[in-house]
Amino acid sequence: MKCLPIGLTAYWLVAFFFSIGAEGKPLTSQELVVSKPQSITSITLASLDQNEKPWENIPAFEERPYVYLGPSALELATGSAPKTRPEITDRLKEMGDRFFPQIQQQLKISEVEFETWPTLDDWGLVTWNISRYRKNESDEWKWLDASLWNKPDGDSDPTEPVFTKVLDPRLPEDFDKLFNNIPAGLYDRPIFGAAVWTTKDGKQAYGGWLDSSDLATAGTDLKNSGLLAHIVFPPARFNGKPKSFVVQVTSGAVIWPGEISWTSEVKRRLSSQKYSPIFTKWPHDFEPRYLEHVQRASGEIPVHTPSGKVIDFRKMGSGQPDHHIVEYLEYLKTEHYEKKIKSKIPGLSIELDHFMWQKIPEANLIVKIPGTLPRDKNRPIIFVDHVDKAIAEDHYAKTNEKITTGGADDNGTATAAELMASEIYAERYLEKPPAHDIWLFHITGEEYPGSSLGARHQVGRMLKQGQMITGVIDMDMLGHHPEHSKRFQINPGPTAGSWKIAQAILNASQIHAARWTPIVRLPYSRKGYDTQTDGEVFRLVGYDHVTSNEDKGLNHRRGDKNYHELGDESSLLDIPYASDHVKTLIEAAAELAGWR
Ligand SMILES: [Zn+2]
Repeated sequence: MKCLPIGLTAYWLVAFFFSIGAEGKPLTSQELVVSKPQSITSITLASLDQNEKPWENIPAFEERPYVYLGPSALELATGSAPKTRPEITDRLKEMGDRFFPQIQQQLKISEVEFETWPTLDDWGLVTWNISRYRKNESDEWKWLDASLWNKPDGDSDPTEPVFTKVLDPRLPEDFDKLFNNIPAGLYDRPIFGAAVWTTKDGKQAYGGWLDSSDLATAGTDLKNSGLLAHIVFPPARFNGKPKSFVVQVTSGAVIWPGEISWTSEVKRRLSSQKYSPIFTKWPHDFEPRYLEHVQRASGEIPVHTPSGKVIDFRKMGSGQPDHHIVEYLEYLKTEHYEKKIKSKIPGLSIELDHFMWQKIPEANLIVKIPGTLPRDKNRPIIFVDHVDKAIAEDHYAKTNEKITTGGADDNGTATAAELMASEIYAERYLEKPPAHDIWLFHITGEEYPGSSLGARHQVGRMLKQGQMITGVIDMDMLGHHPEHSKRFQINPGPTAGSWKIAQAILNASQIHAARWTPIVRLPYSRKGYDTQTDGEVFRLVGYDHVTSNEDKGLNHRRGDKNYHELGDESSLLDIPYASDHVKTLIEAAAELAGWR
């Protein structure tokens, strides 16, 4: 959109954009700086969120995806009926009953109101975003930062509320935090998308939660605008609209808005079931073939690309402007799927979906094995890997240079799993096709600084199309285990459908991974690994899913000798262990796809 001229006509245009947003999209940075601010006392912060369909442009985890308090993004995209009251779990009520009185005490005000909404903490757990407070309705709202919060000692629940932070784009350090899409630190990410823009005194707001797809332009527009960024994670969503609550605290007691419907979390269980497998025989060379796929993915075996180049796929960071991810996907498309698989699966769809991210070309490879069911009854089961690699921490610490790891485990083991799945399925397809589609997604940009950019792009596409599915099996690191351990883990999401997928994996593991021990992790467990994977992107919009991986949790992933280091090579993998896990997942997906 062109920059609007300043003048009376422009004022009306701007006012129009401000009130409803252009086509339900947030203001651009150019529109924002010429728009008319509003006093933050007269509005809710939620009203500043102009994004009508945020699920079509999913923010990175660091900018916080939306929390849905009624219909999920998927339900909204597929036209489910609205709910009458916002639903919030008892867990959040219990947390709020602790958090709000504690802050009231620190404020030393006997009666206080907070503007608040559910958001996610750094671990992906739901918590309260507490952005502002006032004494009562006739008082002015004041911003609330973390300075009043005393970390509780020895609390069994480590979840804490989230407060507002202020950044000044004129300060180089703050500018970097807002707009630098390839920051110096390996795990930093700009948080422009979580900013609410205000006057210097914080009393007038211009808008918030802008589209962060062009940070360079936004940085130029806002650097010297004189505006401040209040970092506030985006409001919750109820029936598709931004939603915040005003919670009152009177002498230590919380008065919750009557509209909230408190719900309890469903406890789900898996059982040991008798299971007769679909696949009773595997190719004798399954393991060496699997290993070879891993070694090509990790750059240990160079590859002749369709364009005649020989490449070892070692430059595999989505933030490296000259990365080889697209060439790797072209190689998979042509040399694997088109040459080896397509002739055996009539109707196989192979799409290299190109897109741009912060001016860098990116792509996902989307492969669809067609089932026999008609479209309206067909619910695909989807495998997800990520083909990009992490920046090597050990090399960076020594040289300050950002090169990617070979990524044999993270995540060559998963890419190779999908390639094996396509080979196994191709053999069976000739006899009989599955009922539901089985889709194989090779996804870019899971690692920093992309932060699941490929998964966010693909999930946005699926929601735009209102795509219903059976569920997702996300794989991330399948090949390591400590010597004394035989475990691998299954991380289902909280939905019933997610646990159905977990049950299918558990059943299949009894046959195909009998020498190993599957561990089912509860949703959001720090011992598990679902938060900050591509699986989480599917979960947060409402898709059923499981992330399946080696026995590594969010809480102990650092300090692993080869995790995100140059040493992530295939020689350190336990190939029989990974292969049995892969066979288990191939079986489970076939079962879920009705391939009997
Ligand atoms: Zn990974």
